[in-house]
Amino acid sequence: MKKMETMSQANDNPICRCEKRTVLKTSWSDDNSGRRFFGCSNYGKKFQNSCRFFQWYELPMSYREKSLLVGLLRKIRNNDRERRNVRIVWFVAIISSIVLTALFMEKI
Ligand SMILES: [Zn+2]
Repeated sequence: MKKMETMSQANDNPICRCEKRTVLKTSWSDDNSGRRFFGCSNYGKKFQNSCRFFQWYELPMSYREKSLLVGLLRKIRNNDRERRNVRIVWFVAIISSIVLTALFMEKI
């Protein structure tokens, strides 16, 4: 879906300094979460001629929209962190039970 959207608009996208057709990207910074912009297809790549062309595609979001989106993103990130923590706790529990079993077996 996203790809098709990008392709259908590709011919109208502005041309950047390195004479390449820009691509529509989405910002995920806290200030502009979800806001789309035109960026060079080389943008962010770590090579010599990294191009920093940048042009907003959408108007800035209202404060309300922005705070809603930032709140949702924060929730998603927190959920991910919690799930990761649960996995770590399980991992530690399993490892320590293996170690304890090994120690116990040695004593017998
Ligand atoms: Zn460029």
